[in-house]
Amino acid sequence: MEQILELQNIHYSYHSLYGEIKALENISFQVKKGEFIGIVGPSGCGKSTLLSIIAGLIEPEAGEILTPAGSRDTLRIGYMLQHDHLFEWRSVYKNVILGLELNHLLTEDKLSHVDQLLKDYGLWDFKDKKPSELSGGMKQRAALIRTLALDPDLLLLDEPFSALDYQTRLMVSDDISRLIRASGKTMMIVTHDISEAISICDRVIVLTKRPAHIKCDIPVQLTLSDDTLLSARKAPEFQSYFNRIWEDMIYEE
Ligand code: ADP
Ligand code: MG
Repeated sequence: MEQILELQNIHYSYHSLYGEIKALENISFQVKKGEFIGIVGPSGCGKSTLLSIIAGLIEPEAGEILTPAGSRDTLRIGYMLQHDHLFEWRSVYKNVILGLELNHLLTEDKLSHVDQLLKDYGLWDFKDKKPSELSGGMKQRAALIRTLALDPDLLLLDEPFSALDYQTRLMVSDDISRLIRASGKTMMIVTHDISEAISICDRVIVLTKRPAHIKCDIPVQLTLSDDTLLSARKAPEFQSYFNRIWEDMIYEE
């Protein structure tokens, strides 16, 4: 598979009046086109910081981010933040085209892509509603469509399902990951849910507590009876991946 991104020895610290907080230490990995990568690690370890660096919102204090063409500008990145809110004073439709509007990309092509996404994600009939009239799962889908509207090559999702109750999360994460998979996009998803990471992702990167460095980088291969996440959770290998990642997260080296 073609490589689309490489992080080399990334370091990052926050500086405040109270001193320096080291967040990331020597993070290196490669991302291949079409790959789904899960990022797990203790709360506050640096997961969101890592996504912000990849998105280019903050610059690493040391290290390189490489793409095959050399510059990160050639890779279109869609970033759905941990608390990515919809604006209540705009309709669902006006919310999902916001990114296009801000980037002066309200072309016929892009708008018909948005219409298709609204249909695929079951939101077409709700496009004129206010965000507060949607269920939690639907809001999440709307926020995701806003990100996908810009047609990113790499999708960065920061705990996208964490506000949903358990059963909704299972359903929403199942259909969303299938839709993204079908679109051929590459995805990195931060989650605190180990089961979610194993069932959605091809690879799980486990970070240590702060300053985060990579504890392990585990390829996931499950024997599936069909393409649902429930079947992933029932796969014979599932429990041993879970135990391995759980132990990696709780035992410091
Ligand atoms: P995670 O997403 O893994 O929970 P973050 O990447 O958000 O962790 O944060 C990593 C560490 O950096 C935390 O200890 C947090 O308190 C600190 N931090 C995050 N953002 C800032 C900031 N803007 N200024 C100072 N410290 C920050
Ligand atoms: Mg976070």
